Amino acid sequence: MILKERTESVQYRILESLNFRKILSSSEKTQFENQVKGFNGEKQFDNELKRACIDGLVINDLLLKASDTYYQIDSLLITTDRIYLYEIKNYSGTFHFRDGNLYSESGHIIQSHSAQADRKKAYLHNLLLKYGNQKTISTYVVYINPDFYIYSLPKMDSVIFSGQLANHFKDIKNNAPFLSESSFKMADKLVSLHDDCYRPSNLPEYEFTQLKKGILCPDCFSFDFTASRQFRICSNCGCREKTSEAILRSVEEYRLLFPEKQITKHLIYLWCGSVWSVSRIQDVLSSNFHTHYSGRSSYYS
Ligand SMILES: [Zn+2]
Repeated sequence: MILKERTESVQYRILESLNFRKILSSSEKTQFENQVKGFNGEKQFDNELKRACIDGLVINDLLLKASDTYYQIDSLLITTDRIYLYEIKNYSGTFHFRDGNLYSESGHIIQSHSAQADRKKAYLHNLLLKYGNQKTISTYVVYINPDFYIYSLPKMDSVIFSGQLANHFKDIKNNAPFLSESSFKMADKLVSLHDDCYRPSNLPEYEFTQLKKGILCPDCFSFDFTASRQFRICSNCGCREKTSEAILRSVEEYRLLFPEKQITKHLIYLWCGSVWSVSRIQDVLSSNFHTHYSGRSSYYS
């Protein structure tokens, strides 16, 4: 049972929006590509886990805080007798294992993924101790891409390659007892501790004036459209969306990019490409947000 579905992270969604609204620098582009690649790998893992039909509770993208450190757990599977913590990597190509380090073909040392997973295990263990957890936590690094190989890797039970994942889940399924009530309680507690508002510190810098204005198609990200009275129809892929919903979606994108900025009808009018009338924008804002009056102007939250 999935208690928390996987969604694109704040970083992913911001980079995705910027990718269509400004020219990303090459390092920003790489950052975005890595986000997309990572997310796709995690979705593949999810599909494999779903197929296994394990009697367990699944929490995806769990973001927790230990004193001043945030840590994200890609996937957590809770069964009655154990907690499985998965660090999912979508690397491709060939790597070499030498003197305890992982080297890329170009000779760079890749930070140890197992150490990364073990650090998260330690944080999680200490957190759950507070709630009386008795379950053992097992960590695994999953290399989800079939086109990935590590030469000279000694046998490590905590490393799972894509071809081994189905059997790994099968073993868990065959040995997992029925889910206990306490497992649900603990899983619910963890989901309640998830931090939804976290914004990483390595986001690109951008300003409102730098970004291309207009509403992006939700399917193909094109700005081009034709409009009927009620609908916005994408000229590129034909996606049809109620205009009020398209405006609201753009307001959400604006809030994601500019969480500190006030939402005013004039700014949203500009943000949506100065195409829909201010009164139409105002209708959408007043029916979905609280209106605050300040002097002669108003803003929304
Ligand atoms: Zn489209």
